[in-house]
Amino acid sequence: MMQLIKSVSELRSVRSKLAGTVGFVPTMGYLHEGHLSLVRRAAEECDHVIVSIYVNPTQFGPSEDFEAYPRDLERDMSLLEPLGVDIVFAPTDDEMYPPGFQTYVEVTELTKVLEGASRQGHFRGVTTVVAKLFNMVQPDKAYFGQKDAQQAIVIRRMVADLNFPLEIVVCPTVREPDGLAMSSRNTYLTPEQREAAPDKARALSAAEKAYMDGERSSGRLREIMLDVLNSEPLAEVEYVSVADNETLQELDGPIEKPVLLSMAVRIGKTRLIDNIVLGGTDRG
Ligand code: AMP
Repeated sequence: MMQLIKSVSELRSVRSKLAGTVGFVPTMGYLHEGHLSLVRRAAEECDHVIVSIYVNPTQFGPSEDFEAYPRDLERDMSLLEPLGVDIVFAPTDDEMYPPGFQTYVEVTELTKVLEGASRQGHFRGVTTVVAKLFNMVQPDKAYFGQKDAQQAIVIRRMVADLNFPLEIVVCPTVREPDGLAMSSRNTYLTPEQREAAPDKARALSAAEKAYMDGERSSGRLREIMLDVLNSEPLAEVEYVSVADNETLQELDGPIEKPVLLSMAVRIGKTRLIDNIVLGGTDRG
């Protein structure tokens, strides 16, 4: 039986009685196939699965969509139940950030670029909540999506730097049939915007094709992506990046190591991200 738990003390008590390995999938809820793919992988690899559902206020900027972010715990529970999840941990804000809270976890360098440059303070909120959740859940493995490529890289760094005794598993990006990466934020799109949204996947595919055909100029790959994005009038490009997939430093010379092609695009008020890795093994 799947158990819904809202307090840290109850989570600790139930967790301590689980025998064998525990896989953990942290989410902000409003689950889709992307999330469920992580849960399935965790269920395959671990004896028990814990999923957290928490819209974490500290990772949203003051002008971002914290209030509007979609929430539906009952729907999420009904999607998780058939997957053999043991515990859904859905804490309250007071449980996560009680009065007097003042301790944060910060990964310094990897968060200065890409999403970190566009969303001030975002990763400090992410690493803080994920560190807290790791301490509460004490998982053997934690599952993250390639969809949020920089987040996975930042969390791996945190786990290594702070000696968390667990393994990070990164799973491929799950897409809609037209290529749009699944995201809880896709629900914000009007039908017209929804039609424009797969341009990001098309831009990535165009760059991937050029790479497969032998193109190794990082500048040229950036141009190829921008050409596709700029031909979509509803899409407003925030950034397009060709970066080293380990250091996340922007490349300007020829590509020799695995590269992360990534972008953030606004369609109306909705901000969407997507990425692929070229020349590596973990393409999503
Ligand atoms: P979120 O609820 O957006 O914070 O996402 C929770 C986890 O699901 C993160 O590790 C995301 O990277 C992952 N995720 C979100 N969308 C997708 C997707 N389309 N494919 C694979 N993983 C995803």
